[in-house]
Amino acid sequence: MIRLDKFLADSGVGTRTDVKKRIREGRITVNDAVAKKPDLKVDPEQDQILFDHRPVIYEKYSYYLFHKPAGCVTARCDRLNRTVMDFFPESMRKEFAPVGRLDKDTEGLLLITNDGELTHRLLSPAYHVKKTYFVQVDQKIPDTTAGQFAEGVDIGDEKRTLPADLKILGDREAELTISEGRFHQVKRMFASVGCKVTYLKRISMGTLTLGTLEKATYRKLTEQELASLKK
Ligand code: URA
Repeated sequence: MIRLDKFLADSGVGTRTDVKKRIREGRITVNDAVAKKPDLKVDPEQDQILFDHRPVIYEKYSYYLFHKPAGCVTARCDRLNRTVMDFFPESMRKEFAPVGRLDKDTEGLLLITNDGELTHRLLSPAYHVKKTYFVQVDQKIPDTTAGQFAEGVDIGDEKRTLPADLKILGDREAELTISEGRFHQVKRMFASVGCKVTYLKRISMGTLTLGTLEKATYRKLTEQELASLKK
């Protein structure tokens, strides 16, 4: 059993504040009775809950694509820095978490969800989920770099990096696709060929792409995106 306002917020009816308003307006019914209180306990499996006479479908888990701006940390809470979760409503912060980590100065695609199982799978080294980054560096990328990255490079860890795909876009710009998630991996890979990363943005992860999503905003994954992610 869960609170009616949580049920409605989880199901995408609106924020907790929005859904309380909808309840006050008498637009929510639970088993044909107009709901009066946001803390009414409901059973998502058994109770029939309507908003403006239309059934509300309960979503146990939600998935958001977030365009992380630089300057915030990928954590749920932090005493000193703004976190990626600060861009989301307060009511979500306890339950939701980012999938993986981007550095404070890295921008781009971050998946935010309360689905722990999917998070675990996407982060598992066994799945080798591909992540593509747009990278700018401080000097010309050596011609040998794509070959070296394809072979795997020594970045000071026990093992060399797994084969990665480098697409050179300009003297100091490239797209790099990696299938691991080691600490500062992209920065350390470029450091291994003498380049310092000056700008880093994740543009895709698995089947998800950032597209034209505005910086510092988020949107729900489409059903298609979710289905392909779970495949
Ligand atoms: N690699 C990095 O070096 N930093 C990131 O934020 C992500 C990948």
